[in-house]
Amino acid sequence: MDSVLTLHDLGGRPPSGTALAVLGHPIKHSISPAMHTAALDEMARTEPRFADWTYRRFDVPPEDLPVALSRFHALGFRGLNLTVPHKVIAFDCVRSVDPAARPIGAVNTLLWTPEGWHGHNTDGYGLAAAVREKLGRPLAGAPVLLLGAGGAARGAAVECLQQRCAGLWIANRSADNLRRLLDLLAPLAGDVPLRGFDPLHPPADLPEGLLVINATSAGLRADDAPPLDLAHTPRPVGVYDMIYNPPQTPLLAAAAARGIPHANGLSMLVHQGARALEIWSGATVPVHAMRSAARRALRL
Ligand code: NDP
Repeated sequence: MDSVLTLHDLGGRPPSGTALAVLGHPIKHSISPAMHTAALDEMARTEPRFADWTYRRFDVPPEDLPVALSRFHALGFRGLNLTVPHKVIAFDCVRSVDPAARPIGAVNTLLWTPEGWHGHNTDGYGLAAAVREKLGRPLAGAPVLLLGAGGAARGAAVECLQQRCAGLWIANRSADNLRRLLDLLAPLAGDVPLRGFDPLHPPADLPEGLLVINATSAGLRADDAPPLDLAHTPRPVGVYDMIYNPPQTPLLAAAAARGIPHANGLSMLVHQGARALEIWSGATVPVHAMRSAARRALRL
């Protein structure tokens, strides 16, 4: 695994070749360098211009992010990824934002332009591509039950509404956070039915055939209770859990026990990364190379 760098390692001279980086705090667990380096190695085999592209990781505390973004831009980095806790802070630091990312209020991919950073959010794309790949279902036209009301849920909800899902039910532990998310989404919903509920008390009229998406952090620890009790919910057509480490959460175990198609969040991580590299390179990205590298890095 490559080393973790800080702003002190950046120096004052532009890096040699075409530089990409991921910024986070902490960052040492990020497997993005492994995924991107594997993809770039494969791309360089057919297109030599990618041979000098590099992707490094930098630990940047949130209070240093605005200065860091200016320095990376001045040094000519072609692109940056942002992870926890930078996605929302960066939204207010960039020069321009992709229209699809505006309602999310967070960016995870920055592209260098002469005027300043241009922000994108590839998480929604990653989720849609992952659900299609793993569960064989497009978000468009699907009735979706989304669990959570944090940053990941917000991105997922905006993607579901932008893709015109058939209906969006959102369940969250904290009623205040749920209300805030529903208020933010209401102007985007148009004619898509949008409802919220307490996961301990699902409404009696929940339909069968929902696509369940977990965007809570419940399941990161082995002793977490699942964020929804599938025994008291009409049978869904599939369950997608954004968590990928551990690879099987209690929610996914419950889906497996009931024979419900299910998948963890590794595919989302891979597809959001592939989309970012596509934005920076303008080239077709070998998703399979990123997937294999991610699995190796996680020892799966
Ligand atoms: P946030 O901290 O912004 O939100 C956390 C959410 O989880 C809130 O809705 C919170 O509810 C809920 N929650 C936390 N603990 C519990 C619990 N024990 N039981 C029920 N609900 C709980 O985090 P993010 O939105 O940034 O991330 C959420 C998850 O998504 C993480 O596990 C993250 O790893 C994953 N993720 C995966 C990605 C991928 O590429 N696969 C990309 C981005 C995120 P409340 O409002 O009540 O506090």
